[in-house]
Amino acid sequence: MKTVVIGGGLAGLSAAYSLCMHGGEVILLEEEKDLGGLAGSYARGYFIEKFYHHIFSGDVFIQQIIKELGLLEKLEWRTASIGYYIDGKIHRLSTPIEILKFEHLSFFDKILLAKAVLSTRRTKDPSLFDDVPATKWVIEKTNKSVYEGFFLPLLKSKFGNYENISAAWLLSRIKLRSKRTFKGERLGYLRGGFQQLVDRMAEKIESEGCEIRRGCKVNDIFMANNKVGGVETSEGVLSCDNAILTTPALSKTLSIDKIKYQSTICALFGMDKNLMEDIYWLNLKANVPFGAIIEHTNFVPREDYGENLFYVVSYLQENDQLWKKSDKEIIDLYLKGLEKMFPDFHREEVKWWELAKGKYTAPVYERCYKNKIIPYSSHIEGLYLAGIFSSPNYPERSMNGSIRAGFGCAREVISDERA
Ligand SMILES: Cc1cc2nc3c(=O)[nH]c(=O)nc-3n(C[C@H](O)[C@H](O)[C@H](O)COP(=O)(O)OP(=O)(O)OC[C@H]3O[C@@H](n4cnc5c(N)ncnc54)[C@H](O)[C@@H]3O)c2cc1C
Repeated sequence: MKTVVIGGGLAGLSAAYSLCMHGGEVILLEEEKDLGGLAGSYARGYFIEKFYHHIFSGDVFIQQIIKELGLLEKLEWRTASIGYYIDGKIHRLSTPIEILKFEHLSFFDKILLAKAVLSTRRTKDPSLFDDVPATKWVIEKTNKSVYEGFFLPLLKSKFGNYENISAAWLLSRIKLRSKRTFKGERLGYLRGGFQQLVDRMAEKIESEGCEIRRGCKVNDIFMANNKVGGVETSEGVLSCDNAILTTPALSKTLSIDKIKYQSTICALFGMDKNLMEDIYWLNLKANVPFGAIIEHTNFVPREDYGENLFYVVSYLQENDQLWKKSDKEIIDLYLKGLEKMFPDFHREEVKWWELAKGKYTAPVYERCYKNKIIPYSSHIEGLYLAGIFSSPNYPERSMNGSIRAGFGCAREVISDERA
């Protein structure tokens, strides 16, 4: 049986890798010339992710794959410093002590916040809150001032249109981000970049005799009598028995996908000095066209790159005006925002920039999202789906989730073939 995997991101690579290891005949087709999808990187003499990336200690599946592929010694865990920019000042919020010192919440507010975080950590299954609005949950668990002073800016910068966001997403986010020691939160990074994971997977796939075609776009999937027959690509028609679709770009056109997605614009800047003293992740409450700043070289040593690197990121809902602007216009707006926030920052100090735009970068985890999750097997024989729309990516998408989805989907293909 021949399987075509559509998309060379982590879900597609994982599905292809798993099938190849089980002796399947597989062709992976990736539209771009490089593999990796959202976890892809720029090659600038070193690899640096197009969109910031790290992993959490609970991301066990990706850690197993990293080990299996012989990369475990490169996986490093570091304490990440978190800040919150509000009223022209950065407040450090990495450690419990720093959170206690946060002047924008009263002592009583902080007690409420701590109680809400502790009760969330005890919640075994956040998905039980799928149909509860996050805003309602926060106000019930804390009060209006914690909601407005702490959660609202985060929800707004992450989703824009936040009213209908599910508490399941918020709870799982709190669970994930609140696992910190007295020194702060530990995050994992593959020293040398996650591109090594992508490359190692691709090498394994090819060494097992399976094929990867880069720069090959799938335009359509042929179906006859409710069964997959092949795919139409930019290089011609390819017949196959199974197709594994890993991108919302095509699932949307096939009308299988009812999920609303958000887009992301992410700029990467190179400089010869720090932007922030030592903050890795900065959330913001400010009138600027971006939602967070991530200073990579305040997390991974600058020596690895020979320069300072930081990301500026905007999460967009449909029809956001920023999406329609040219790359140069976006960079100009970002630089103006940075100059407004950091008086010591001058745009002339930026040596270079890159801009990544992703249309389908995360599901919008609205209330009742759970009903929209797409199963691996579809109603069409031979058509499978694995990606950010699959169950391991609920209630938050991640590399770990897409790798799990790829493997889970491959297992279903294998078991159907054996049946
Ligand atoms: C800003 C940002 C930050 C993130 N940070 C983290 C993080 O810190 N930690 C973490 O774990 N995760 C993070 N993620 C999420 C993680 O990157 C994704 O969940 C994961 O990489 C998705 O993999 P995927 O294979 O499911 O999808 P994708 O990576 O989207 O892969 C789909 C692939 O299909 C290809 N494709 C599309 N259309 C076609 C076509 N017609 N024909 C052929 N190929 C096609 C695309 O080019 C792409 O390569 C982040 C994502 C973003 C956007």
